[in-house]
Amino acid sequence: MLKQTVQRLGGCISASRRNGDVHMKWKKHLFGNWVRSMSSKPQSNDNRSTSYSVPKERVECVVIGAGVVGIAVARALALKGRKVLVVESAPTFGTGTSSRSSEVIHAGIYYPANSFKAIFCVRGRDMLYEYCSQHDIPHKQIGKLIVATRSSEIPKLCDILDRGIQNGVDGLKMVDGVDAMKIEPELQCMKAILSPVTGIVDSHSLMLSLVGEAENHGATFTYNSTVIGGHVEGNDICVHVTETDRLKEWKGTSILHPELLLSSKLIVNSTGLSAPALANRFRGLKSGVVPPSYYARGCYFTLSNTKVSPFRHLIYPIPEDGGIGVHVTIDLNGQVKFGPNVEWIDSVDDISSFQNKFDYSVNPNRAERFYPEIRKYYPNLKDGSLEPGYSGIRPKLSGPSQLPADFVIQGEEIHGIPGLINLFGIESPGLTSSMAIAEFICTRFVG
Ligand SMILES: Cc1cc2nc3c(=O)[nH]c(=O)nc-3n(C[C@H](O)[C@H](O)[C@H](O)COP(=O)(O)OP(=O)(O)OC[C@H]3O[C@@H](n4cnc5c(N)ncnc54)[C@H](O)[C@@H]3O)c2cc1C
Repeated sequence: MLKQTVQRLGGCISASRRNGDVHMKWKKHLFGNWVRSMSSKPQSNDNRSTSYSVPKERVECVVIGAGVVGIAVARALALKGRKVLVVESAPTFGTGTSSRSSEVIHAGIYYPANSFKAIFCVRGRDMLYEYCSQHDIPHKQIGKLIVATRSSEIPKLCDILDRGIQNGVDGLKMVDGVDAMKIEPELQCMKAILSPVTGIVDSHSLMLSLVGEAENHGATFTYNSTVIGGHVEGNDICVHVTETDRLKEWKGTSILHPELLLSSKLIVNSTGLSAPALANRFRGLKSGVVPPSYYARGCYFTLSNTKVSPFRHLIYPIPEDGGIGVHVTIDLNGQVKFGPNVEWIDSVDDISSFQNKFDYSVNPNRAERFYPEIRKYYPNLKDGSLEPGYSGIRPKLSGPSQLPADFVIQGEEIHGIPGLINLFGIESPGLTSSMAIAEFICTRFVG
């Protein structure tokens, strides 16, 4: 197994003719086992330095970040016959936002017409259903109801329906409260949109399958490796990589040295919450192109003391500022959860963000705010039935009270660096859109 991986790697990373130790060191690193080689010790004074004393390797394509989007991109590139190296700071894939979502396959209803969110969600949903069916990924097209609980909300519901129809979402239908409550007897509402194409997916099985397929087509995933910057060198981009463990010892004031430079013609910055911070560390980017980032934590509470789910469909209220409302999600094991709410939080410094040191705590007292929200559409929710679950953080490009921003996919025409693709603001529906984003990158930037 080990031998096969080394052989496969041979085609991915060109051997360093200058320093055999360095090459060996990197290979070992790729198996999650850093071996410090004194001969490869960097001598530059700055993580942005172009000093050639730092070992350098050439790779055809580098994807930074192994969340669902980075994995989908790596798979798509590998299927096109490209040699891909995925560099991930965590010890394994999918430990960031991708393991903290509602796991909903969104239909594509809410987003402005012709936005990336609308286009990728609708296309990605179809691709996802097809992929899940073909690869036995647990998923279920259970449908969802978006509900107006007061007459004042009905105009908003009509706008949402129009938008969904404009976006090409199939099967949407407005139903009267009585009919919605026949479908879901525990529900209380005045009107609802029924979306039959919405579903749920086991996102971890999905990522596992995509990683496996990418690897079978020659992609290599390297974990515990953090990209800390980059620079342009001729027609290539060079990213600066270090062992994640080294960052744990970092005091915050000392200068960070890369341990390896990876030079490539295609680099995809798919680092989710960290993407703007990392892009700001690429030397040569045009000024003002990296959007400001905002972070909105979304917490979930699970329904305890209930063996059977009170609902068969996903139930969503009218969207709120920053999110799509505290909704009911049912996972594939039948576990019911409510959330996510919207809690705007402060950013962390770049290096902490690369190590995913965000505050994911769920304040149990928040349950007090969840009860009245949920009871608007589920009046029988019993006192004491909500238990703190988990939280995820949305990588947002617009702040409180601002209009929601679209996904941003930046190539050379925007930032000026050939071969660098920055993915910014990949919040919901990023899971649903992942395969469509990957398809877009391959078509638009790879050909
Ligand atoms: C609360 C919540 C609920 C959601 N629900 C849904 C839903 O139901 N349906 C849906 O479609 N979408 C949903 N989303 C959105 C979806 O989860 C995300 O869009 C998607 O997971 C983003 O994937 P990603 O690969 O871009 O980012 P991530 O999963 O965050 O992956 C980024 C990776 O980059 C790594 N990394 C960071 N910095 C560095 C570095 N410097 N060097 C190397 N690696 C680095 C991180 O460790 C991480 O593994 C939800 C999001 C949230 C927050």
